[in-house]
Amino acid sequence: MTKVSLKTLEATLRSRQQELMTRLSQVQKDVTAAHSADWSEQAQERQNDEVMEAIGNESRIELGRINRALERIEQGEYCYCRNCGEEIPLERLAAVPYTDLCIRCASR
Ligand SMILES: [Zn+2]
Repeated sequence: MTKVSLKTLEATLRSRQQELMTRLSQVQKDVTAAHSADWSEQAQERQNDEVMEAIGNESRIELGRINRALERIEQGEYCYCRNCGEEIPLERLAAVPYTDLCIRCASR
């Protein structure tokens, strides 16, 4: 297993953040394009909008989690459980990068 460091976790989070922001602006463009395109059925357009919206919402939620994780890194709180203050092992953070709870608190 490769050694995990806070730096690599941060880099992973940042590249994921970039990816999501790119995707969100793409979704925005697609939704706008779908409206101006000549769709034969209104229902299809609506369905497409809903799918795009769902993708957008998911990305927004994930982006929010990433932003929070990055904030926690900046404040030096990332490696500590929000609930009990115990240190969260980097291996756990690598597996679930958005968590702010240690395994014990998370499984409660
Ligand atoms: Zn805890």
